[in-house]
Amino acid sequence: MSFIYVQTKFIFVTGGVMSGLGKGVVTSSIAKLLQLSNQKVSCIKIDPYLNYDAGTMNPVAHGEVFVTEDGGECDMDIGNYERFLNQNILKSHNITTAQVYSKVIEAERKGEYLGACVQIIPHVTDEIKNRIFQVAESEELDVLIVECGGTVGDIESLPFLEALRQIRVEQGPKNVIFVHVTLAPSLDVVGEQKTKPTQHSAQELRRIGIQPDFLAVRCTEPLQEKTKKKIALFTNVTQDDVLSCHDVKSIFQVPQILYDQGIVDSIFTKFGKVGLVNASANWDKWNGIVESMLNHEDKPVKIAMVGKYVTLADSYVSVNHALHHASAKIGKSVKIDWIDSESIPDYKILSNYDGILVPGGFGTRGSEGIIKTAEYARENNIPYLGICFGFQLAAVAFARSVLRLEDANSTEIKANAKNPIIDLLPEQKDIEDMGGSLRLGANEIFVKEDSVAKKIYKSKTISKRHRHRYEVNKDYISQFNEKGLFFTGESDSGKRMEILEIPSHKFFIGVQFHPEFNSRPGFPENVFEAFVSAAAQK
Ligand code: GLN
Repeated sequence: MSFIYVQTKFIFVTGGVMSGLGKGVVTSSIAKLLQLSNQKVSCIKIDPYLNYDAGTMNPVAHGEVFVTEDGGECDMDIGNYERFLNQNILKSHNITTAQVYSKVIEAERKGEYLGACVQIIPHVTDEIKNRIFQVAESEELDVLIVECGGTVGDIESLPFLEALRQIRVEQGPKNVIFVHVTLAPSLDVVGEQKTKPTQHSAQELRRIGIQPDFLAVRCTEPLQEKTKKKIALFTNVTQDDVLSCHDVKSIFQVPQILYDQGIVDSIFTKFGKVGLVNASANWDKWNGIVESMLNHEDKPVKIAMVGKYVTLADSYVSVNHALHHASAKIGKSVKIDWIDSESIPDYKILSNYDGILVPGGFGTRGSEGIIKTAEYARENNIPYLGICFGFQLAAVAFARSVLRLEDANSTEIKANAKNPIIDLLPEQKDIEDMGGSLRLGANEIFVKEDSVAKKIYKSKTISKRHRHRYEVNKDYISQFNEKGLFFTGESDSGKRMEILEIPSHKFFIGVQFHPEFNSRPGFPENVFEAFVSAAAQK
């Protein structure tokens, strides 16, 4: 198999020492710096696990499933890329082992390998390279930054690192750069920064044929020059290219930290593209946005986030970000408390909050707590935003207490409910596979005139991302309307209800879609901005 020559330059980001060092933030920050230097950039995330995509993974263990415009159920790093770059990323940018192997096995069954013995090298590595090149070529990128998940030394990431090594050999060092993310822990009271984990990690990388060009070293305090010098000596990386990635208040400050250490000039020099850094206007805009997200000394807007997957902050990472984007826009900070809907001792605690948000969720566990939360918000006139599950169960709550419909429920929670307010999407009835089979991705929504939603979105049509199997049962709509709850957003020619609102309430909105995936720093998604503004006035 021969590869088509591509003009794109590549930056490969690998991980060392341990997971959770923030490779995604380093990747996004480098991409941002190059974007600010007028390069057309994008990012890819490689996930070496065997799941085909993130869709079937538990958010409490792996973090949120990030949904792309084209309906990909992706790793949450894709969300970081979108937020840093303020650009949409397609599902082809999240490559997994399962996708690669299924393609190779399918080709083998079709006889496409013409009798060859099919092997990891070259067949699997070729498929990996193809996927990377396809993104670079089809999007005509100047620079593509590829983040390889996992830590060097993991068995499952070996074929990917081998493919990246081959790309460097084929395309040459003027076109390919490796950045390795490691850790320099400080153990004693004097705060001496230890270099051994980084030394070993760089060695492990060299053992498989990769010499890093940059080391991005995570540390609590800025990396001292003597530490940089020592690391450089043991890893063959120039001292100037050993970069301190110390703790900062906001992840959006990381591009500046890397810039201050000369990473952009160094990248351009290595790429033979000297003199292209000319982005002061872009820089000012970006810094303005970062600045707006920091240092609010006023009283924060207090939001209760009530849901099921509250034990891991990353389970709703995009919702958290969206709330921060919204509060920054109105010059405030936001304080989010996660409340487990399974164990709310007394719903009165909810009156301590300026707003209540119920994000997406699945299944029976914790659902009664969500229904009661929506009810509490409505009765006590506390601003409420329900997303997907939070939209569906707000409708159930209203049906129970205002429409007085006995046994009102979603059939996801109670299959034989007497009043199935929320029911399976008709096209879902015969689906058996759980993976990739929900209603996914962006769809157009029509917003009704003279509605709160229209005031929020200021447009008759909007496009939003979805991830659900159930929807509002249209048989009940007139009953809802009679009692003051209106469905003011619809999709698929009026077939599906997308937005609900109670206009007599201070702020009570539910959305079937996921607005959090469209929110970006400096550009909060409309309904988040409206919700946080309403909460700020409580
Ligand atoms: N469980 C609900 C459904 O499948 C809601 C999904 C969600 O909140 N993402 O429709």
